[in-house]
Amino acid sequence: MKLKYEFDAESKDRVVYGANCTWWDSIMKAAQLPNGIPCCPFCKSVLFEFPNFEAFMDGVDKYESDGHPGYKKLLIWEQGKCFRTMEDATKAMALEISIDEVGSQIKKLEGENQ
Ligand SMILES: [Zn+2]
Repeated sequence: MKLKYEFDAESKDRVVYGANCTWWDSIMKAAQLPNGIPCCPFCKSVLFEFPNFEAFMDGVDKYESDGHPGYKKLLIWEQGKCFRTMEDATKAMALEISIDEVGSQIKKLEGENQ
């Protein structure tokens, strides 16, 4: 699974994530509330911030090794996506993966029929 997160000069590694949703991304992708506070571009949740990407992923790795297998894969998949809960994100990822699998099965069948 490929990571969409990219460092750029302006964002200086800052990673933000929703206090009330699952959205996370570079600070450069955040929207702003009328008072200037960064927020989720979808639900306007206020954000927590990590000083850099490594610190963010350290926390993710710790959580995964603490009895939550697949957490990192889920988090990487849902970068830039806003869900109310991680449970909702898990369901959406499972659905997307199964759609991809159906698509590749169809392609395979079409290939066999040519
Ligand atoms: Zn959100």
